[in-house]
Amino acid sequence: MIDRATVDRIYEAAKIVEVVSDFVTLRKRGVNYIGCCPFHNEKTPSFSVSPTKDIFKCFGCGKAGNAVTFVMEHESMSYVDALRYLAKKYHIEIQEKELTPEEIAHHTDRESMLVLNSYAQKYFSTILQQHVEGKNIGLSYFKERGFREDTIQKFQLGYALEERDAFTKEALKNGYKKEYLVKTGLTIEGEKDYLADRFRGRVLFPIHGLSGKVLGFGGRVLKTDAKTAKYLNSPASEIYDKSNELYGIYFAKQSIVRTDCCYLVEGYTDVISMHQAGIENVVASSGTSLTVGQIRLIRRFTPNITVIYDGDAAGIKASIRGIDLLLEEGMNVKVLLLPDGEDPDSFARKQDSSEFIQYINENQTDFIGFKTKLLLEEAGKDPVKRALLIADIVKSIAVIPDNIMRSVYISECSKTLDIQEEILYAEINKHSKSKFGNGFSQRKEAVSQLYESERKAMFEQRQAAVVPQSDLSQKTDMEMSALQIIRLLVRYGGNVLFENSNEATSEMEKYTVADYIVTELENDALSFENPLHQQMLSETKQFAGQEWHAENYFKNHVDIRISSIAVNMIAEPHQLSKMHQKDHQFEPEEKRLIQLVPRVILEYKNKVISIKEKNILLAFKAAQDAKNQEEMNRLDAEYCQLIEIRKILAKELGDRIVLK
Ligand SMILES: [Zn+2]
Repeated sequence: MIDRATVDRIYEAAKIVEVVSDFVTLRKRGVNYIGCCPFHNEKTPSFSVSPTKDIFKCFGCGKAGNAVTFVMEHESMSYVDALRYLAKKYHIEIQEKELTPEEIAHHTDRESMLVLNSYAQKYFSTILQQHVEGKNIGLSYFKERGFREDTIQKFQLGYALEERDAFTKEALKNGYKKEYLVKTGLTIEGEKDYLADRFRGRVLFPIHGLSGKVLGFGGRVLKTDAKTAKYLNSPASEIYDKSNELYGIYFAKQSIVRTDCCYLVEGYTDVISMHQAGIENVVASSGTSLTVGQIRLIRRFTPNITVIYDGDAAGIKASIRGIDLLLEEGMNVKVLLLPDGEDPDSFARKQDSSEFIQYINENQTDFIGFKTKLLLEEAGKDPVKRALLIADIVKSIAVIPDNIMRSVYISECSKTLDIQEEILYAEINKHSKSKFGNGFSQRKEAVSQLYESERKAMFEQRQAAVVPQSDLSQKTDMEMSALQIIRLLVRYGGNVLFENSNEATSEMEKYTVADYIVTELENDALSFENPLHQQMLSETKQFAGQEWHAENYFKNHVDIRISSIAVNMIAEPHQLSKMHQKDHQFEPEEKRLIQLVPRVILEYKNKVISIKEKNILLAFKAAQDAKNQEEMNRLDAEYCQLIEIRKILAKELGDRIVLK
């Protein structure tokens, strides 16, 4: 565990704009920053970050929080891991407390798997650098490929020995559990306690997630006569879902933002060689065809993508299908064909970055044009083939969501294909009516549902802990009224409401807003329905009689559900008190707490009474139906009492109204 002083230092150091910028492209607008929300799918930004309040809030999906909760949600990290992540980012040394057994038990599977992967990465790197077999086979292979030592270190490359269970044995010896060895896929379990390493006699490429943690490994076998597959990956697990990851994204993200462009290549070594040549905005889909999850990962940083193909055009036609998906997601797609016989790896080794980038800029073409040319060459003059080709191109254009871009492509294709624009338009409309009519929107829906379910799985854990921001109109009167008190507690809880002289000591005593609320509610034996609200109230008692910073206390609360409530209160300061504001438009709220706080409490009490009244009336009717005279009498008496209280409250409230 991390001690409170360190936690406070981390909160102080973590600048929300800097933290969010590592994952989302932000643009300044007024005093705030805006970007596309990473928590729901959107194309127009509604995700707002406030550097002055140190919070974020999405006006699309309602997600809100501080720097720590952002990292927790975005990276599905635990609270402690998010703090560690930020401590590392801001070079804050962490004073760790000894873990209690309960805390250790609390470590989730996910964390245990990540810890194991990190250990495995270090183990394999050490083997590569120090073991005879690692040096002779693995390291010499990387050196042959021209990888420099700093590149090998940066990408944390490693080597797995030929031996059946060298790694598994070592990991078990070091206290790592078999359960996680199997869950991460590093170890394969057979019958009768048979355990074997998944990766044997392979060089290893750790696959890093956005925050730099090792999620899995890709292994390449070096023996040419090997009977196994050339490449072998970690299996899908709780921490590794290859359809949502891109190789190199951790090392590329900043450069992608800076250059506003992302290069997409096929293999690990393509990424590494280009990096080494000085081109860092490059990622690989690792052999799988592109998925929506991967595309959206890129789109968080840029809408511009250039797909780089090997010189030999064999695989191009197959992969072209995947690119329609990029267009459909509204990306600007360009394509680059390398000279014959070259792949990004070999080509990068022959040039420096400026030559390579110059080549890219001079030779990249837009995807539709590229596809048209490619298919045109193939079709030749064959009219049937040409007709099929036009249908194919039209299909690609039809999925582009942006009208203007679509019309630009249509006009270009009309020239290349020598067909009137009207005919192409008619063809596209046909698609939108027949195949794409329902089909298209259904497909879109299916795609976004797929995405949603991936997301859901990822964030389920976090979301369970976050109070959903429900529609205010759906809240009951009572909740609304309670929320007004909570809002005052969060914003002004530590402000002094008034001072009184103590008769015994004749010293002045401070009463804060929180003190007042606590006393008022306790005197009438009232509590909040929502246990979190009640907890917030109880916690303020520790500050009784002293000034304190309530906003910071709640915003940075250890319980992220409470932090989330507070952030929402801070993000929408006046939503709940419009009624009270009308007459005091020119006086800031904190100047009239002495009127506001008692009034809001009276209103709450009034609501409680109303509900009691309603319940008594219902019970009375039931008693009447049951002809239970005794019960009817009892309820009647209770009701009269209630009416009396109501009168007093109404008078007080009325007085307040006159007073203000
Ligand atoms: Zn959102």
